[in-house]
Amino acid sequence: MERKSKIINWNSQLEQLEEYCLSKNWNIEYKKGRDKDKKLDFTSVSENLIVLKKNRHPEITFYVMLHEIGHMMLCQNRKMYRERFNAVFDDFSRGSLTHKVKTVEEELDAWKIGFKLAKRLKLYVNRRKFETVKARCISTYLIWAVEQKMKKETKTNGTVIAIGDGK
Ligand SMILES: [Zn+2]
Repeated sequence: MERKSKIINWNSQLEQLEEYCLSKNWNIEYKKGRDKDKKLDFTSVSENLIVLKKNRHPEITFYVMLHEIGHMMLCQNRKMYRERFNAVFDDFSRGSLTHKVKTVEEELDAWKIGFKLAKRLKLYVNRRKFETVKARCISTYLIWAVEQKMKKETKTNGTVIAIGDGK
């Protein structure tokens, strides 16, 4: 079968993910928001809640939901989370490069876990699309993480680093 011609019912895929969340007692909420609102998708582990932006293409929502579930699973593995993340977060201030890079690592992990979950649940993922959505999200974190450092370096040696919208 030609993969590209495969017709995917994204709403049904979303429903299956929602059911999975329900089975774990995680609630899903959809909130209205403008396109520019980056923080509309988030996970509150203490509230067992995943919030997602409303009215987006279901395929995109599907990938973002996988990612948010990834965060949930990462944080719920308390011992591992404490050793891998809290240990570093506690030792370095929020604004430090080390703290920020650790945050980026957590973001990447959440994408990885989400992808694995889709495979485990036998849900379809268009790898190309998934990686594009992931790259878009990760790039904002990357820019945020190195912003200060780049400013400093530009000041000291005058190098101008341009960040384009490279595809
Ligand atoms: Zn995230």
